[in-house]
Amino acid sequence: ELEHAAGDIRFDGVEFRYGDGPVILPKMDLHIPAGQTVALVGATGAGKSTLAKLIARFYDPSDGSVLLDGVDLRDLTQRDLRRAVVMVTQEAFLFSGSVADNIALGKPEASREEIIASAKAVGAHGFIEALPEGYDTDVNKRGGRVSAGQRQLISFARAFLADPAVLILDEATSSLDIPSERLVQRGLKTLLGNRTALIIAHRLSTVEIADRVLVMHDGEVVEDGTPAEL
Ligand code: ATP
Ligand code: MG
Repeated sequence: ELEHAAGDIRFDGVEFRYGDGPVILPKMDLHIPAGQTVALVGATGAGKSTLAKLIARFYDPSDGSVLLDGVDLRDLTQRDLRRAVVMVTQEAFLFSGSVADNIALGKPEASREEIIASAKAVGAHGFIEALPEGYDTDVNKRGGRVSAGQRQLISFARAFLADPAVLILDEATSSLDIPSERLVQRGLKTLLGNRTALIIAHRLSTVEIADRVLVMHDGEVVEDGTPAEL
């Protein structure tokens, strides 16, 4: 039973292949200390999303272990794992329903006050209030349509409310206009807080705020250093 995860991540001899396909990650050893912000970069097909998904336990390693605070992910309950690790994907998945319900996805018991506080924290409150029915606006209804940047901010508010020790973010590739970009970047900084974060980074501004940058090539980490070093 994991009461409150610190967020220390360790890959111990992790090998991974999809089904009986070719080896995608060969024998990876990696340590991400609690609280570190790691930017993961590399060419398409390098294995960035695969590595990220192993931390969120979308898959289990073919060999070796992924550990959270020294505990093999396979030994954690679904509940503990979902509470400790949250993954924010590129598409910033929104389901048909109100903005409030979308933010509360990971914490259905959240009060309206908590939902608003999370939106405020990441800078989403302003545009949400301006929607036709505010927090009750159906995101898929006419007039409730939200832009790519706004979707990102809603997903940040959702992650902020869930308050995981470990945040995995596959950064959206879609280009945003400058003001939205700035809002999203500011929201991201607040969201990061003291958590452990692994960000598949597509923006230079994100790489720059990271404590550490990992460059992947063909399933291996080929460079590991600070943004200034790389
Ligand atoms: P991108 O920058 O395009 O998102 P990536 O670095 O995230 O690339 P991955 O998606 O991790 O790369 O893919 C790594 C390798 O694993 C690629 O060769 C890819 O074809 C393969 N792969 C990814 N997902 C699957 C899957 N579900 N089944 C089989 N092979 C997969
Ligand atoms: Mg990917």
